[in-house]
Amino acid sequence: MALLTAMSARYWLRVALDLPLPDLFDYYHTEPVAIGMRVLVRFGARQLIGMVIETPPQPVYQADLVKSIDLLLDDLPPMPDSWLDLAQFAARYYQRPIGEVVLPVLPAPLRRPAAYTGKKAAGGPVARLVARQSKKVSSSKKTIKATPAPTLNSEQEAVVQRLLTTPPPARFLLYGVTGSGKTETYLRLALEILAQGKQVLFMVPEINLTPQFEKTLRQRLVAADGQPYDIAVMHSGLADGKRLESWLAASQGQARVLLGTRMAVFSPMPDLGLIIVDEEHDPSYKQQDGLRYSARDLAVWRAQHLGITVLLGSATPSFESWRHAELGHYHLLRLTQRATAMDMPEIRLIDTRRAQLEQGWSEQLLTALQQTLDAKQQALIYLNRRGYSPVLHCGACGWLSQCPHCSAYAVLHKGYKHYMQCHHCGQQSPVARHCPDCGHIDLKPLGQGTQRIEEFLTERFPQARILRIDADSTRRKGSAEQLFAQVHAGEVDILIGTQMVSKGHDFSRLALVGILNADTMLFAQDFRAPERLFAQLMQVAGRAGRHQAGAQVLVQTDYPDQAVYQALLKHDYAFFAQYELPQREATGLPPYVHLALITAEAKEVAQALAFLKQAKEWAQHPDMPGGDQVFLYDAVPLRIVRVANIERAQLLIESSHRAALQAFLRVWGSQLDELAKHYRCKFTLEVDPQEI
Ligand code: ADP
Ligand code: ZN
Ligand code: ZN
Repeated sequence: MALLTAMSARYWLRVALDLPLPDLFDYYHTEPVAIGMRVLVRFGARQLIGMVIETPPQPVYQADLVKSIDLLLDDLPPMPDSWLDLAQFAARYYQRPIGEVVLPVLPAPLRRPAAYTGKKAAGGPVARLVARQSKKVSSSKKTIKATPAPTLNSEQEAVVQRLLTTPPPARFLLYGVTGSGKTETYLRLALEILAQGKQVLFMVPEINLTPQFEKTLRQRLVAADGQPYDIAVMHSGLADGKRLESWLAASQGQARVLLGTRMAVFSPMPDLGLIIVDEEHDPSYKQQDGLRYSARDLAVWRAQHLGITVLLGSATPSFESWRHAELGHYHLLRLTQRATAMDMPEIRLIDTRRAQLEQGWSEQLLTALQQTLDAKQQALIYLNRRGYSPVLHCGACGWLSQCPHCSAYAVLHKGYKHYMQCHHCGQQSPVARHCPDCGHIDLKPLGQGTQRIEEFLTERFPQARILRIDADSTRRKGSAEQLFAQVHAGEVDILIGTQMVSKGHDFSRLALVGILNADTMLFAQDFRAPERLFAQLMQVAGRAGRHQAGAQVLVQTDYPDQAVYQALLKHDYAFFAQYELPQREATGLPPYVHLALITAEAKEVAQALAFLKQAKEWAQHPDMPGGDQVFLYDAVPLRIVRVANIERAQLLIESSHRAALQAFLRVWGSQLDELAKHYRCKFTLEVDPQEI
């Protein structure tokens, strides 16, 4: 008994851990601990870093079994309330435990126990970083002369006026054609907000876009007294230490601007006054594993919660945002003209059913390439398929190079060594020398990938400097940046690329864009395929002729009458939306309804289907919230049913009432873990799925 009384006070903590368990965990400490502090705790045999979410008067668990924390990590102040609100919202909305939100979004060193224990910890990663920084000679603050701002054209002027005179909180959708000078309007608004002493969060969809954007921001975001605003950059390509540095700079308010990809939406910013989401339609804003969040949607929520303004920009807005604008939820701003007095490039469709093709190339496109080279200008050939050829084929028996582990073909890659690779499971294998079925030795590559395009063009235009940019040619860290630098430096005559090259880049001499296999996306199963295709085509077409007249875009297609292509011809997003949206409404698809998607994985698809069938039956239980406002489709196998020997099926859930869907998912989703175990399945539940 003496022992007990001698024991110091206990302060109960409910701690979030990064575990796929829906609960918080009880610990105690001998001093009071603020909510939002990180703690080092024991969990079973492991040591983990967790975050304090509640400090109840009594533990939920049996008090005498509750353990003490090992260490209070007080190298940082508690996470701010508004940040915790954002995390709580994300956890609720995306139906994940809070621990799967608050920890993974922190820079790795802040959630890695090893960074705080052991000999080399030296007070933890924050202390080590501060020590390193103080050793560096602090560069005296330079004043610089900002690159002068261009005079706005009348459309830009009107947009900037609206932006500056609409009091926060406001939600804007800026619909501006490619090259219309959206960035300029972002900069004007950002400068205004920065001058008010607030921070600005700039979001871009791709790592590859950050260097170009960063340069613009550094040149232009300069205060009236000539002091450049401190800018931090954050994306998944940064080393852990660098990312921690940016995160600290933003969260301590030293960086006034944070430029980042989707993860940046979770960066604490004490003085946040504006969020800008560029290319808001881009699917990269959606995280595809763990917490499957949409950074754009969270940005809108965060802005609303803070009472600040959010500006979404795109040449091809997502139908979700477009619909919000139609309903008056967002102010719609338009830029219909190119800023640089350049016309939009001329777009022409080449009907490949009628044209004579040479290895898939039309005469028209080849002639245009030759003319572009003669004029010493750049051309871009766009093909959204990497590798040499998507499949190897035996002419004698019809054998195709099937991946042994997936219901997909292995792709032929050429290079220093030739190999086959499956783009779904990643497995590489040697190239078959003869047909494994009939022994025939003349196996032929069917179809074209970027490597084959490169080979063809190198033979056809031996004088031209040709560069290929795709996931294969940019595998090494930093190589994408290098390759893009070559293009910008004018060292490339023909650039061949996948969608990696289509976004945001401002190529100065680009006079011709040739688009090769767009049709393959036209009939994809996903209901968003036409929307995606249109956005991609507009993007890639928009790379042409940004700085000179007479640019053209040539699209080879078997289906020139499709609405996607007709809208493209006119550069008319609104026309496309008018055609596509009524179909979405008629068939009950977003943005008119809300969706959730369960994907189940098992050894055999039958198990996955059985699990989903049972899950659907449970959903029909009369006690289930949501009731007749929630509709469940039948479970179906995925189109590519097997990947890496795992078979997959999915079940789509639909409702026109977001709240009903949320309530339903909360109850139903929480019952599925047990059921999945019974059927030996794994499953993921995704809210607002992007790919179906
Ligand atoms: P977007 O983001 O809408 O595709 P950008 O913001 O990249 O377009 O602008 C396209 C080009 O036009 C850039 O080179 C930019 O510097 C230039 N620009 C923008 N506004 C003006 C302006 N008012 N006068 C002259 N050039 C401009
Ligand atoms: Zn054969
Ligand atoms: Zn495979």
